[in-house]
Amino acid sequence: MTDTIFSKIVRREIPADVVYEDTEVLGFRDLNPQAPVHVLFIPKRPIATLDDAIPDDAELLGKLLLAAAAYARAEGFEKDGYRTVINTRDHGGQTVFHIHVHLLAGRQMHWPPG
Ligand code: C5P
Repeated sequence: MTDTIFSKIVRREIPADVVYEDTEVLGFRDLNPQAPVHVLFIPKRPIATLDDAIPDDAELLGKLLLAAAAYARAEGFEKDGYRTVINTRDHGGQTVFHIHVHLLAGRQMHWPPG
């Protein structure tokens, strides 16, 4: 897959407000937040979209979700709750083709999403 801005963030070639990091996952604040807390969790090893994930990626995808949950718990959002979102390709609204989990917290979410 082609390099994206998120791989540049992983390599620290461009700045980001990193709030979570482990050996395989990076979490950083979205530049255009849609909630009081809006953090993107990405695998350091890029996968373009959810549709490009293969069975060998199962553990990594699980780690992305667990990283988001751990961060939300550490920030105290587990009681009121929060939203996690993965946008996939055009109709999903995906704009950066390096898979990412959006964590949105700190306000009431609505359904259905736009
Ligand atoms: O799901 P989608 O691909 O649309 O999400 C990409 C997100 O990445 C957007 O919410 C956008 O604000 C964010 N972004 C960012 N920093 C960048 C480029 C995009 O936080 N340098």
